[in-house]
Amino acid sequence: MSIENILLPLEQLQLQSIELADTTITIGASSRQAQPACPACQSVSGRVHSTYTRTVADLPWSTRRLVLHLEVRRLFCDSPLCAKRTFAERFGAMLPPYARRTARLTDALSAIGFATGGSGAARLAHLLAMPLSPRTALRILHAQCLPAPAAPRVVGLDDWAWEKERSYGSICVDLERHQPIDLLPDREPTTIAAWLRDHPTIEIVARDRGKEYVEGVNQGAPQAIQVADRWHLIKNLGDALEYLFHHHAQALKQTCAELDGEDGAAPSTLRSVPTLDGTANPERAKLASRQWSARALDRYH
Ligand SMILES: [Zn+2]
Repeated sequence: MSIENILLPLEQLQLQSIELADTTITIGASSRQAQPACPACQSVSGRVHSTYTRTVADLPWSTRRLVLHLEVRRLFCDSPLCAKRTFAERFGAMLPPYARRTARLTDALSAIGFATGGSGAARLAHLLAMPLSPRTALRILHAQCLPAPAAPRVVGLDDWAWEKERSYGSICVDLERHQPIDLLPDREPTTIAAWLRDHPTIEIVARDRGKEYVEGVNQGAPQAIQVADRWHLIKNLGDALEYLFHHHAQALKQTCAELDGEDGAAPSTLRSVPTLDGTANPERAKLASRQWSARALDRYH
């Protein structure tokens, strides 16, 4: 493999010059394509209209930025059926039309951006000799095509805070793939119903206890089974137990007193634990602790 193959992103380019500076390597290159094809009609042409220089950033070399100055031809399209009179030669997916970066540089910046966000990408890419602004980093991220999500079957719906305590939307999660699918702008039943109608494959909806979600699911996915999610099941259980104990506090006290009487030990004795000054008897405290645990277990059973 020649140095030309290593330096240039495409085989269609021919190395013309290399200039070294403190922070930048500038490579001059021209096209090897004998007869480029018109992008509109695919007719090949060898009739040159003019040439111009295109500047494209590529992956850096060590600590230096790498900039390509490409001599690009504009050619005549001779097809009588084509709407284009002239066209600029193209270089495939590695160098998309009008792009100021090679596809491999964009891929690298996109990977950094997904890992670190806009400002983080700008700081890290600067250190790696691929300078760009936070705004450009975000623009690269927004231009990426995300894979289309699979048709969801089991989804979770819950609150999602745009601004905590002030503004809430809804988050939709594919519970089989453990991936968020969508963010809805609010918690209105009509919004939830419309989203569910767009996803007719949904069979089960796990939701919180809010009536907006109940109404939304009833309207948008009446075929779906509605279940409380695990967190809300446990919350329901906690609420029910709290209600129960609160309303039977007297009976619980009486039962405890009876059990204490059966054991023949007063509660005050059982709660004798070591004090901070260390004057309590450790053996007695251990015994009290064991008795207390045994009695708690009995009550639990
Ligand atoms: Zn054409």
